[in-house]
Amino acid sequence: MGARGLAGDLLVDGALGSRTAALHQPYADAPDSTGNRYLDAAQIAEHLALCTEAGLQAGFHVIGEAGVAEVVEGFRLAEKELGRRALVGAKHRLEHVEMIDVEQAELLAGFNVSASMQPLFDGLWGGTDGMYAARLGAERAAGLNPFAALAAAGVPLAFGSDAPVTPLAPWESVRAAVHHRTPGSGISPRAAFNAHTRGGHRAAGVADGVTGTLVPGAPAHYAVWEPVEVVVAVPDDRVQRWSTDPRAGIPGLPSLEPDGPLPTCLRTVRAGEVIHSRD
Ligand SMILES: [Zn+2]
Repeated sequence: MGARGLAGDLLVDGALGSRTAALHQPYADAPDSTGNRYLDAAQIAEHLALCTEAGLQAGFHVIGEAGVAEVVEGFRLAEKELGRRALVGAKHRLEHVEMIDVEQAELLAGFNVSASMQPLFDGLWGGTDGMYAARLGAERAAGLNPFAALAAAGVPLAFGSDAPVTPLAPWESVRAAVHHRTPGSGISPRAAFNAHTRGGHRAAGVADGVTGTLVPGAPAHYAVWEPVEVVVAVPDDRVQRWSTDPRAGIPGLPSLEPDGPLPTCLRTVRAGEVIHSRD
């Protein structure tokens, strides 16, 4: 039929901003509501089974803890029908996955499920006084978008913007993943960069292992960025200037500092063809 997957934003639940993400405990600012859930585990399992048997990637939009729990149960049910190996080989995908605990992350990693996430969600809505804290209270909000825990569990990460929900601003997004509003939930610049480049190709089902990297034989998808000059104060008070690759994350260099400059995109090339050029 020509389809590569049946994933995208198939809704298990809604979103936190509209109080439609499915929760176990009510919203802090809507005590009568635990949000909406649109699919149950049996329906999720059926979609997983049909897609797996057809050789297609399945995927779901899932944000709230009750939605994530339903997805995990859906994978367990699908495993009973198909076996683990078939599910692992199908490389299924979840969008957002904002409220997930370590045990669930390890289970999903065992099914080879990618998490497609949006670091600017935390950048815009995280912290102790943002939208997440208003909806959930600061304590529950602090557990959202746990990039470090997901990476440690072995869940492949892919980062994006969910545009137009957040702007197409990949370096801002990489920076937000590094400087997570909850201390300890961020990941290294290099891990964030990988999630924002090859991670996306992988989550989209590209399995050649080179797409998204700059190596001979890889498809010529790349962007050219104007380097950033940063001023570095060294311990003996001398000041040095560096022109650096912000993803380097070299200890002592203020790369990706929260208010620092970010590279400007000069050119974007897809499959050898220039699709953006800044003259
Ligand atoms: Zn979505």
